[in-house]
Amino acid sequence: MSKLICDFCGTKDSNENPVISGDNACICRSCVNAAHDIMQGKKPQALEENAPTDEAVVEEIKLLAPHELKAILDDYIIGQNRAKKVLSVAVYNHYKRIFRQDEIEEDIEINKSNVLLIGPTGSGKTLLAQTIAKYLDVPLAIADATSLTEAGYVGDDVENVITRLLQAAGGDVEKAETGIIFIDEIDKIARMSENRSITRDVSGEGVQQAMLKIIEGSVVNVPPKGGRKHPGQDAIQVDTTNILFICGGAFDGLEDIIKKKQGGNVLGFNQEKKTKKEEDEIISLVEADDLVKYGLIPELIGRLHMIATLNEITEDDMIHILTEPKNALIKQYTHLFKMDDVTLKFEKPALKEIAKKAINRKTGARGLRSILEEIMLDIMYDLPSYKDKTISITKDVVINDKEPKVA
Ligand code: ADP
Repeated sequence: MSKLICDFCGTKDSNENPVISGDNACICRSCVNAAHDIMQGKKPQALEENAPTDEAVVEEIKLLAPHELKAILDDYIIGQNRAKKVLSVAVYNHYKRIFRQDEIEEDIEINKSNVLLIGPTGSGKTLLAQTIAKYLDVPLAIADATSLTEAGYVGDDVENVITRLLQAAGGDVEKAETGIIFIDEIDKIARMSENRSITRDVSGEGVQQAMLKIIEGSVVNVPPKGGRKHPGQDAIQVDTTNILFICGGAFDGLEDIIKKKQGGNVLGFNQEKKTKKEEDEIISLVEADDLVKYGLIPELIGRLHMIATLNEITEDDMIHILTEPKNALIKQYTHLFKMDDVTLKFEKPALKEIAKKAINRKTGARGLRSILEEIMLDIMYDLPSYKDKTISITKDVVINDKEPKVA
């Protein structure tokens, strides 16, 4: 596939408007024609006729192929390949269904491909949703399913999620209607089930029913500034049919349900103590009926067509997360230091110790930021006095609170 893009108008190479490349730049046929018109002293009609409209550009971005979407996710998220693939395909299908409506045959109904991400805390579920929404430039609202449980007014709270999406869309209803809603901790509203010993509020089922309504697609009357705090506002109608829902949850104990179903014979399931990797493998075998046993209502699971599991973040992953993504924490610190003419280096054993600390906190990769902040605070405080020096963060800085090496 040709990757040529016109440097003048940003159009991609196509049969209708081919792009040619020179040594240092590319240009499309309509820009060549426009340049010709300008040289002849005419108004450049060709450009106006052929340049893509803003709307067309937006749609083109949304219809990136799944592998292109995954490549974007790869820039920011370490590992979790299967989840990245599932999400890329789901997002591709979702926006294809919306923007290529006219190609869908009348008697065929294409379902929405909402996604369920199952993985431990701090493994990248929210980050996946954030990254995809940011890149596609669609509004995103993040809600916690447990906050819906705690409030008495189920319906009202569900509307508030849509209000938040509307706010993220800057009040543009049409934009909100093709946005993304990420609902976290969906496992925490599972109804009590005979298979699990945890006692929980049975109202979880009521919340699931309320969520089902918006996930299925309905027209919701939302107060533009949110529910109870601003009474007396005119409600705005938002159709949720084309909103993509991504649900996330850790689903602690799910592996026991899966194991039981498998009869305890696969992958050495009989062993008392399982490694993290084995646990991840068990979870990856999850099927809809396991989630019903866990306490999600079948109708809701039926609306979450694509299920992906995420692995627990390992020590090696932690080191990659610190150093590799485009906005990796270490890259951010290095840049901040460079702005003060200070070179910042992290020795490998130091990175390993930071990773170990994060593992001990049991909050996945989420702990990395605060660990680094603790380590870097004093050094940042004295930063201007290190001008033109190189600071190395050693293992001792991380575990024994020692001074960094300065050269
Ligand atoms: P959760 O799975 O609980 O939703 P998050 O996506 O909120 O976790 O992760 C918290 C933070 O940890 C993210 O903002 C990101 O900085 C980091 N993180 C977690 N997983 C990954 C990953 N796989 N790759 C890169 N960073 C990650």
